[in-house]
Parts: sequence; structure tokens; C-alpha cells
Amino acid sequence: MSETQQSQIDEIHELELQYGVKDKIPEGINLFQGFSSGLNVFKNKTLNSAISFNVEELDKLFMSPELPFVGIPLGRTVELFGGFGSGKTQLCHQLCVNVQLPVSEGGVEKMAMYIDTEGTFSPTRIIQMSKSKNKDPTYILKNISVARVKSSDDQLKILDKIESILRDNNDKFGLIIIDSIIANLNAEYIGRAVLSEKQQILSNFLWRLKNIAEDYNLLVIITNQIRTNPNQYYGDATLHSGGNVVAHWASYRCYLRRSKQNKRVIRMVKSIYNDDNEAVFEITEGGII
Ligand code: ADP
Ligand code: MG
Repeated sequence: MSETQQSQIDEIHELELQYGVKDKIPEGINLFQGFSSGLNVFKNKTLNSAISFNVEELDKLFMSPELPFVGIPLGRTVELFGGFGSGKTQLCHQLCVNVQLPVSEGGVEKMAMYIDTEGTFSPTRIIQMSKSKNKDPTYILKNISVARVKSSDDQLKILDKIESILRDNNDKFGLIIIDSIIANLNAEYIGRAVLSEKQQILSNFLWRLKNIAEDYNLLVIITNQIRTNPNQYYGDATLHSGGNVVAHWASYRCYLRRSKQNKRVIRMVKSIYNDDNEAVFEITEGGII
């Protein structure tokens, strides 16, 4: 926990002591459905934590003067997009390990959910990454709930399942990964004639995911593929799957690309605070460095 974070917690406790009132709404009873006391909103905003990459350059991309955290704040949404092999799945694996770490090591001591639409979830990689952090790999693996989803229909249905798991396991999960958001849809909806139907499904799926991130105060990360546009000869000749529906969704949009050897470049394309910054990271056997 950072010093600023600690001082904000102290400040809230101080205020509560000073005025002798915690919250007039009795705990456990929701008198005004859909409303939350101003104190709770304040608490959620300030005490809300973050998941660190434990890589300074990467963490910096997500930092802001307003937030006292190191890493990606909970309650937010992230889109990682890039070409094949750009490191999207590797970053997701690393965060599934890091979310479980104690706060002093950059985690939030919570579980992860991994919705795997491409069959690329790798327990072997999780074991390697856990070992390099001196953590018990079986414990780390046990705390990642993986669902292999092979159709867009199942992808929508799994949201009901996710919500019921989250309701029953209040506060146990800190991270949901959808890797990738678009693979099933791209396989099933081909051509312009079905484009709007495809966008509709995607939009509905993303809207529900964003609510889940906020309602359960957890981080939601989606991955998205890009392909080269052969008809474009200038500018950024890449096509971004899902178009504007996806582009407007995320709190943070990150573009990944390959560099020399195992190095990758990640660029913050859109964020609440600092756009257009870049960072370089490396994929090693022990994880992201
Ligand atoms: P995508 O963006 O398609 O999801 P990935 O995240 O799967 O890409 O990245 C795959 C790349 O990760 C591989 O091409 C390789 O360079 C690197 N990688 C995977 N496993 C290891 C490992 N054990 N050691 C070093 N690099 C690895
Ligand atoms: Mg992948």
C-alpha cells in the first residue's frame, strides 16, 4: 500500500471518529435501491486498489496524479489489441498471477477468471510465472477459474454464470480476462450482411462486462485482434476488429506490437489521463519483465 493510500485511509477514519457517524443507512439493508451513500462512493474511489505488473515502465502507463496506486486500478476496463504474437495472452497470464499477490507485492490477494475463446490458456506458463515469484504454482492455478468458450452464444451465456459466481463469492475475484473478445464472432459472422448483427452482440456483451467491472469493483481485460488492411497505403494500415463499439468501451486501450527478439512495445492509445505514452517489455520464461 502506498503512503498516499494509507494517508487517505487514515483521513477517512479520522473523519468518522471526528463526527461520530459512520453511515445512517443500516448495514445490510438497502433502503434506496440503486443509491449509495456519498461516503461509500468516496471510500470506493479512494480505497479502490490496483494490480501491478511489477514492471515499472508498464505500471507508469496506467498511473495518474489523481490515483494513489501503482498498476491498473480495479473497477476499470482495458483493451489489449495487437497482431498475432504481440504478447496479449502473455500479459493476461501475468496479471492472473499478480492479482493474487499480497498488496505489498503489487497484488490485491484476489482470484482471476479467464474466459478462453482461442484455447491459448497455458497452465505451464502460469506454473513458470508462479515459480519465478516464489509462489506455490498449485495454489496460484487453483485460484484461476478458466472457462473455454467455443461459440458467441456460449460467450454471452457465460456472462450470466460470471454474474452468479460473483454474487455468491462477494469480493473474492479481482480480475476477469476475455481472451479474445472477437475470435468466436469473427468465425461465425462473416461478411458485410451480418456486420450490424455482429456489432449488436458485441455491444451488448461489452456493456454488460463494463457494468460487472463497476458493480464488483474488479478489473476487466479484453484482448482484440488486428489485421493488416491491404487497401490502405498510408497511416496506420491496421484494421481494428469490432470498430467503434470496442474503441469507445475501454477505460484504457493499449496497442501492442513486436520488437526485436522477445521485446514488445505497448502504446497507450486511450486512457483517462495519459495518452500516447509507450513502454517496452520483454517476455521471458519467468514472465513479463
Ligand atoms: P498474442 O498477442 O497472439 O496473444 P502471445 O501473448 O501468445 O501473443 O505471445 C506469444 C509470444 O510470447 C511468443 O511468440 C513468444 O515470443 C513469447 N513467449 C511465449 N512463451 C514464452 C516463454 N516461455 N519464454 C519466452 N517467451 C515466450
Ligand atoms: Mg493470444
